[in-house]
Amino acid sequence: MEKKDKTIYRTEAEGAVTVVGIDLGTTNTLISLYDETTGRASCIENSTGSCLTPSVIRFDEKKSENGTEYYYVVGKEARESADIYPDRTAMLFKRQMGRTRDFKKIYGTSYSPQMLSAMVLKSVLRDAEEELGAPVTHAVVTVPADFDDAGRKATLEAARAAGLEERNVDIIDEPAASLFDCERLLNLEGKTVLVFDLGGGTLDLMAAEITEDSINEAANRGDVHLGGSDWDYALGCHILNTYLKGKEFNTEDRQKFWLSVEQLKRNLSSLKEADMYVHTKAGEEKIHITREEFENVTQHLLKRVKSVLEDLMTDLYEKGIGSVDEVLLVGGAARMPQIRTLLAEFFPYSRMGSGDADRAVANGAAIYGWIKYNGQKPGSRNTDKLYEVRKMFTPRVLNRISSRSYGLAALIGDDGEEKIYHFILKGDGVPVSVTKELYTAYSNQRIVNIRIYETTLFERYVDPDEKWLLGTCTLSIDKDLPEHSPILIRFTIREDGRLQVEAKEKKGGNRIQVELESRALLNEEAVEREKRRLDKLVML
Ligand code: AMP
Repeated sequence: MEKKDKTIYRTEAEGAVTVVGIDLGTTNTLISLYDETTGRASCIENSTGSCLTPSVIRFDEKKSENGTEYYYVVGKEARESADIYPDRTAMLFKRQMGRTRDFKKIYGTSYSPQMLSAMVLKSVLRDAEEELGAPVTHAVVTVPADFDDAGRKATLEAARAAGLEERNVDIIDEPAASLFDCERLLNLEGKTVLVFDLGGGTLDLMAAEITEDSINEAANRGDVHLGGSDWDYALGCHILNTYLKGKEFNTEDRQKFWLSVEQLKRNLSSLKEADMYVHTKAGEEKIHITREEFENVTQHLLKRVKSVLEDLMTDLYEKGIGSVDEVLLVGGAARMPQIRTLLAEFFPYSRMGSGDADRAVANGAAIYGWIKYNGQKPGSRNTDKLYEVRKMFTPRVLNRISSRSYGLAALIGDDGEEKIYHFILKGDGVPVSVTKELYTAYSNQRIVNIRIYETTLFERYVDPDEKWLLGTCTLSIDKDLPEHSPILIRFTIREDGRLQVEAKEKKGGNRIQVELESRALLNEEAVEREKRRLDKLVML
């Protein structure tokens, strides 16, 4: 499909900064550009004429006299052929970001979620650069507010593997990004807003207080394993078990079946009943489904949403925030009427608003990026025109909170019981740096082993559980110290939500900066290697 008329962006200036916002989604990825001449952010279409690029990759090989060449295709085509070529298609890898280094083996090569995400990023960056006629220099990539340290770090690794320079990439939580877009449209100043973001693969909730010049996160909760695709699966299984028992499909029809189920789900958002046509080996069948039936077979998913909402309300209550003025609906799956009914029950007195459910996150990330890299630079492009644009929205500062608690295992109290002591609690404002003194256990101690934990708990002291162990490190002491000598430990959460830990023997001596090794993350060298591997693969 031909692309629409190109918008002209300001790229002609020497050393121009071109910032994009990228909503790197579980099911779809969008890229957006803030146009400072109009004061608006807008999504860039891909070569199929859509802003939504499915986060799906298909690999192909071509054998020639010179050997085998490998190709990959990202987006709609890959998604539509996913059931025909399941062995060489990768999808839903965002759910494994920071959890594994080996997502899938294709043509004998193992791909990490970071590498696969980098391929999707490369594809949308290419679309943006074609539209711009210039290279993208800066990007803001969104992550679920509920992402842990490893998920955030893996996202930055993906951006670097896609060719973006580390210092020119930032990450922002998806709900916070959507506020940057919607705030201008909905005038949220002075209000407590709950962003309810239900996308294809994740549920992300964030409550924030909006003042004249800042967005202050108050609480966030989520479920990175709950999204629209779970509703598809539940509905599809119900249809197969109830109406198509014993029916056989060929591969192509099975693929069409799941695409039709998703369409049926969407139709049931606006219609009380809808039909779906299914091809089986026995011929075509018409399936009639009512919204009530759909809601019955997906009740267990709604219960999970409810439980996350309850947790968020408890967090808010503990912070002394008793009510929410406005609920902002973001993400395609938030269009389901069952979600709206649930939210109306929870918040009978709140106004329900939505910006552009699909695009708000990418657009908001572009606006945030513009403010960060361009808009707040003193004297930057201070033309009359720009002044007019700035009057249209206030560049607000984002005050984030930590999505996790961080601490280390220590012996506490007279009886020396081992506990995790949280330096930083979930919900603490970030960036934040906390330093504490711990003490050596015996005289002439040569080594202090430090075990660092990341939890979702709010208490200062909790019982250690290995499932929360983030990493270990060792501080060496090269002099004789008496028992109970102080060791300084500093935990820092940077603005982008990443953790840094430092340890130091108080009276000078060694200082170590803890590099948290995770089996799911890549080191500098590995990122470079992935980048070179990616450069060799041909993107169709
Ligand atoms: P997103 O990640 O925000 O693009 O959300 C994608 C998810 O939203 C997919 O699971 C879609 O099937 C779902 N979705 C999009 N539009 C609708 C709709 N009208 N009703 C129900 N679900 C929808």
